[in-house]
Amino acid sequence: PTTLGVMGGGQLGRMFVQAAQAMGYFTVVLDPDVISPAGLVSHYHVQTDYLDQQGLAQLLQRCAAVTTEFENVPAGALVTLGAARPTAPSADAVAIAQDRIKEKAHLAKSGVPVAPYAVIETAEQLAAVADDLLPGILKTARLGYDGKGQVRCRNRAELAVAWGSLKGVPCVLEKMLPLASECSVIVARGWDGTCVNYRPQLNLHREGILAVTEAYEGNMPLALADQAVVAAKNIADELNYVGVLCVEFFVLQEGSPEHAQLGGLVVNEMAPRPHNSGHYTLDACDVSQFELQVRTLAGLPLTQPRQHSASVMLNLLGDLWVNEATPPWDKVLALPGVHLHLYGKLKANKGRKMGHLTVTAATAMDARRTALAAADILGIAPF
Ligand code: ATP
Ligand code: MG
Ligand code: MG
Repeated sequence: PTTLGVMGGGQLGRMFVQAAQAMGYFTVVLDPDVISPAGLVSHYHVQTDYLDQQGLAQLLQRCAAVTTEFENVPAGALVTLGAARPTAPSADAVAIAQDRIKEKAHLAKSGVPVAPYAVIETAEQLAAVADDLLPGILKTARLGYDGKGQVRCRNRAELAVAWGSLKGVPCVLEKMLPLASECSVIVARGWDGTCVNYRPQLNLHREGILAVTEAYEGNMPLALADQAVVAAKNIADELNYVGVLCVEFFVLQEGSPEHAQLGGLVVNEMAPRPHNSGHYTLDACDVSQFELQVRTLAGLPLTQPRQHSASVMLNLLGDLWVNEATPPWDKVLALPGVHLHLYGKLKANKGRKMGHLTVTAATAMDARRTALAAADILGIAPF
């Protein structure tokens, strides 16, 4: 059988591996950890650093094509892989997505604005920041996720302290926007430019981490949803992107000055891979985001996925494993349409994504009701 490779052994890699195996592929994971969620379930595991030339050679020897499960794979590794095998997404696309400064410049071409921002790489740029960017959020240009590498600043004094606390690395200061809600759009684009998409998911973040995704008809105004889909497809086309891409958006509060200035929709960032907000597609759609990743990588046809159930996803963070006790899965699984996914992580640290729970139902109201009951059992705050 053909073997597909993936850079990174986290939960996204695990779900890619599982989708690939379901379609008859063998898999190889490259990850430095001995035990990783994807490494545990893959046929082969190359355990080296991402830039280790021998490791990359071993991966290439095994596989026919390579993808990635996280955007911080050194772009240099993808250049090496891309020279030898079909690699999707490309090193170029990942290099843009892993650097907020390059990313913003690119996102601005989507037809939807980005949050007003300034690049801060030097003390001069720090001093020259325009007053109307404050209050704002200082974000490191590279390596941030789940709100890590971000500091909220009310004024110039706090901004200076924040930049110091981030060790003066290249950053972006973004104006703090009045959010009504957040959503994301997942698209998959093939080698021939065919592009398919899911409808926008509504996302609730808590402390910078995705907590709840609501995916059903009517989760947001239709006009905004359509606008977000067009913008996400534009972004994929502009990058000549191949693979699964997720674009995150802010929906601004109506009546706010920012809404008057920017419009209802602002593009936040993109992820060159399947996304946490798309995990519901495993249970609520006829084709999941991971199957689309396999299809794009293998050059198989892409068809427009169809969502057959209303759905709500709850993230299961390490916080739920109080004193290492297992949460009461038997109680939540007694509710109708609950699907439990655990990633095989051994240590439950606070804020660590250990798994997720998807509720599927015939109607949005039923999905929400059951998800709220599950949240109540687990001690997750209502939404
Ligand atoms: P991810 O894990 O999604 O990659 P990240 O660490 O890259 O997260 P962002 O998406 O930049 O972080 O921000 C995390 C969250 O912080 C957003 O989803 C939003 O809730 C809030 N946020 C970020 N930027 C702004 C902004 N300019 N105005 C208001 N809220 C913001
Ligand atoms: Mg991010
Ligand atoms: Mg984000």
